[in-house]
Order: sequence, then structure tokens, then C-alpha cells
Amino acid sequence: MSPLALGSNLPDLGAPDLKDYDSQTETSLGRAFSVALHEQYDLFYDPTTLSYVRHIGNKIASQTGQDRQFTFYILNDPEVNAFAGPNGVIGIHTGLILAARTEDELASVMAHEIAHVTQRHLSRTFEYQNNVSVTSIASLIAAILIGSQDVSAGIATYMGGMGLNIQQQLKNSRIHENEADYFGIKYLDKAGYNPYAMSDFFGRLEKESQLNEFKAPEILLTHPVTEERLAKAKERAYQLSKDSKRVYHKNSLKLIQLRMKLLLHIDDSYGDKHLDKNEQCYLENLKSLQSTPKKVSSFNIQCLKDATKQYPNNKLYRLLQAQVDSVINPELGHREFTYLEAIYPSDFSIPYLHALALEQNNQIDKAIELLRKATPKFHSQYLMYSELARLFSTQNETKYSYYYNALANYNIGNTSKTLYLVKQAKLLEKDKSSLFFNKLIQLENQASMDQKIAEQKLK
Ligand SMILES: [Zn+2]
Repeated sequence: MSPLALGSNLPDLGAPDLKDYDSQTETSLGRAFSVALHEQYDLFYDPTTLSYVRHIGNKIASQTGQDRQFTFYILNDPEVNAFAGPNGVIGIHTGLILAARTEDELASVMAHEIAHVTQRHLSRTFEYQNNVSVTSIASLIAAILIGSQDVSAGIATYMGGMGLNIQQQLKNSRIHENEADYFGIKYLDKAGYNPYAMSDFFGRLEKESQLNEFKAPEILLTHPVTEERLAKAKERAYQLSKDSKRVYHKNSLKLIQLRMKLLLHIDDSYGDKHLDKNEQCYLENLKSLQSTPKKVSSFNIQCLKDATKQYPNNKLYRLLQAQVDSVINPELGHREFTYLEAIYPSDFSIPYLHALALEQNNQIDKAIELLRKATPKFHSQYLMYSELARLFSTQNETKYSYYYNALANYNIGNTSKTLYLVKQAKLLEKDKSSLFFNKLIQLENQASMDQKIAEQKLK
């Protein structure tokens, strides 16, 4: 393919006739969107998978040159799709993770979605009218981005009523997709991934969908693969990579897909026959952990040790080894988890799984202490706070259980549930001058302030 000059094709940033919403509105919309995701959709919360996806996302996000917080969620949905919601909330469907052949391909779609955020596409897409609440807008955005079974008919009518300008949206969408490809491939390359992965992935999905008599993957409906789009993406990758002699390493996607299929009960007996011995070992030990978590004889720790030795930088083998050792030899498991926490301090799934292992071994106080120390270090603490709430409730420490549940809900933007739970905790705390009571008041104030802002209508 002959290299084309791409620089001049860079699309114009934004249509001047659309008003950008302000950052306070964006924060509120992001919170309401996250609540809608948690309440109306099925999120996939396997800590290992979530941590894997967040790691890729954060790696790409750190290359955007913008100091913006992203939050990545996995949607339990077999459709091959992904979306970028308000305030940096990005969703990846389980179907997309399973359809990718390499981590680079998965990363390429994430980079594309991240670029939608950095280019502020969503805030430039919709024009809002007065008297529409943030909550309604957020649910609507979620319905458009995710539940697009019949966008054209039902949602469009609804949108008309809500005062959203669908024509404007359609007019901008092609420009936005171009921009997301353009910047996405740049971020992908800067994050150390193969910049050709985007054209490879979309090109293959398109070919497969032509062979498939059933319907095309959702993502191709919103991201039509044209010759022109593929050529542009390849050219962009060529420009970025022509001088580099990078080697792309084998990565952990295959193991992640194995655990997803196991947890989601997706039968893949054909694929399972084609695993190498390390992958086979990972799957077998994982199955035992699922079905007979306390039966020492059901594990094969030796093959896990071999896999760890062969791939010392593959965190997933080591993490599973720590989980299995926690069953066979709790003291050793505890040491392995502590070691992993030290070398991967930004991975929330390690202290989380460590706490679960401690709980299995009836060391609840230790589990609580570990999570309380670890939680403030992370941006998305929903899983950890929920776990703390659960651990406290097993100890009949109801007021603390309410408090951590309130924090979990606050973390995903659910202010009304937060306020309800804080109120319950306050009723149980006798000492109104205690430090704990003070913390409750603080959280209550924060949550009610956020709620007031969210209740304001969009202007
Ligand atoms: Zn897009």
C-alpha cells in the first residue's frame, strides 16, 4: 500500500454550534452513568479480569497527555462491543475481550474509546434542553451506548421527547470515529502496543461477519469498516512504527479468556484441547478453586510452579499459585501474596484476593486490617469496600458494615443509597462525639452536596 499524507486529513475538532457541557455537569453525568451501569446492567466483577483490563486501560490513558481520571468496567454481554460514557467511564463487553486474539487487539479498541473521551466527543454530541435531569440523561446515554437492540425506532422517539438532537449526533459520528481512530492508534503505539492491531482486529471482525449468516457484531454497526477506514488506520500505524524495531511480547490474554469462559459457563471444549501445558495447568487449578476450594488433593501446585518459573513476569500464574498455596499451606500463601503486593502495588486484585484467602483460613481480623490499609490507595474501590462490609457483617459489626457499604456505593456514584446507609450507621453509633461518628457526618455531607448538584437540571 502506498503511504498517503495523513496530516492534512486530520478532522476539525468539534462543531462550533454545539455547546460543551461544563466539568461539574460532566462529573455528575459520570456518576449517574455509573449508577445506571450498576443498576440496569450486569457488570462482570471478576477481580483478576477487571484488574487486567484496568491495567491496559491505565497504561493507554497515561499516554494521552491529559490528566484525567478514567474508570473501566466490564459489561457481562456477549456482544462484541465497547463504549465511552461521560466523565471517562469506559465499558468493555465480555464478548469483545473474548473475540480479541491478542492483548494488542483488545488494547486497540480501548485506545479508540479512550480517544473518544480525550476528544470530548460525547459532550459535543448531544445538545441538551432545559428541565432534563442528570439521571435521565445518564440512563438515556447508557441505553444508546449499550442497549442498542433497536436504536432507530424506540430510542429515537424517546430521544426526540428528551430534547436530544439525533440528527446532529449522526452528522458528527463519522468525524468522531475518524478522530478516535487517529488518536487511538497514537496512544496505542505510545503505550507499547502494536499500532496495526486496530486495523487487524476490525478487518478480521468485518471478514468474519461477512462469512456469518447471522447478524454483524454490534461494534461494526456503530463503527462501519470501510476500505477507507482500514487504509487510514494502516497508514497511521505505518507512520508511527516505521522507525521502531519493537518486539511484541506474548501476553496474558489467553489465560484471562480461559477464566472468563469458566466463570461465564461458556463451553469451549474445542479450544481447551489446544492449550499448552501451562495453560492447561492454569485452567485445571482454577476449576479446582471454583468447585472444591478446600480440597487440597484437587490441586496440582507443581505444574503452577513450573509455569511461574518459565514465565516469571506473568502475574497470573503467580497469583493463582498464591491462591492455591493459601489452601495447601496458608503461611506460604500469605507470604506469596505479601510479596506480590509489594511488587505490584497498583493492582487492587492482589490484596482483595489475599483478604479472601485469609477469610478462608478464618483470619477475619487480618483480612479486615489488610483491606482497610489497601483501600485508600485505589481509585475504584467498590469491590474492596463491599468486601469490607461483608466481612464486618459476618462479625455482627453492623454499623461498620453499613459504613463500608455506604463507601462502596459512594464510590460508584450512588449518593441516595450512600445517604440511606450512613443514616442507618448513625442510628447505631451511640457515641456522638466519636471519630467514627465524625466520619459518618463527613461522608453524609459530601454525598448530600453531590446529590444537590445532580438534582439541578441541565442548563
Ligand atoms: Zn468509536
